[in-house]
Amino acid sequence: MKAPNKDTSGTVDFLIDFHVHSNYSDGVQTIQSNASYATALGIDKIVFADHYAQLNNEKIKYYLPKKKINEYIEECRQNNAIPGLEIDYLGEEDRLLAKTKDIKKVDLVYGSIHVVEKTKLFSETLKVSNPQELIKKYLEYFVKLAEKKEIKAICHPFWVPEKLKLQLKKKLTKDYLEDVAERMAQSEIAIEINTMFPSLTLKQVKIFTGKGVKITVGSDAHSPESMVAIKKVYRQLEKEELTHYLLKI
Ligand SMILES: [Zn+2]
Ligand SMILES: [Zn+2]
Repeated sequence: MKAPNKDTSGTVDFLIDFHVHSNYSDGVQTIQSNASYATALGIDKIVFADHYAQLNNEKIKYYLPKKKINEYIEECRQNNAIPGLEIDYLGEEDRLLAKTKDIKKVDLVYGSIHVVEKTKLFSETLKVSNPQELIKKYLEYFVKLAEKKEIKAICHPFWVPEKLKLQLKKKLTKDYLEDVAERMAQSEIAIEINTMFPSLTLKQVKIFTGKGVKITVGSDAHSPESMVAIKKVYRQLEKEELTHYLLKI
């Protein structure tokens, strides 16, 4: 496959959306529809990152059903897309990325924090009794996730709902970010610039790249029209001369 930035001037002439959901999990469209839409938008490659349960007893309706994993992978390949999985980091060592055969079958595995101590961060009806404690736990989870060599990137890093943003901002110090960036560089884990759940400032992105952490750009599209947003990020990366940090696949 062509590298995303073969041009020495730093222009990205091969656009990859590293994070797309299909209707195998909670996306609304099929793999094929997403792939055709991407082509129409001038996006050269997409990585499907459907949600996947690590354990058999996790029956959450939006997860990709385990029995469909082979079909999912095959369909991705038939549509010239890359099969990946987005896996919840649940804060327990033995639960992350149990080395199942399924995880090894896909090309890219991502780690995400969606739930902290049973609190669903992405829930519209989120209620938090102790925001400080929740943020503390989130940041602890992140440090551990930054060392999970099984994953290739961390999705929507430091995205929390509006009511927790201020609390998180206070805790997200340069020292903390440098520490996780070093761990991620060591583990060869990339940081995602997510356009659906934007969270990183340019200054923060540069803390990561400064430690040698690679970047992925993902729309987190659950509906294909959301993919278009990645184009702007690629142009910004060009402007900031950061394109050589893009993860090559
Ligand atoms: Zn996610
Ligand atoms: Zn996602």
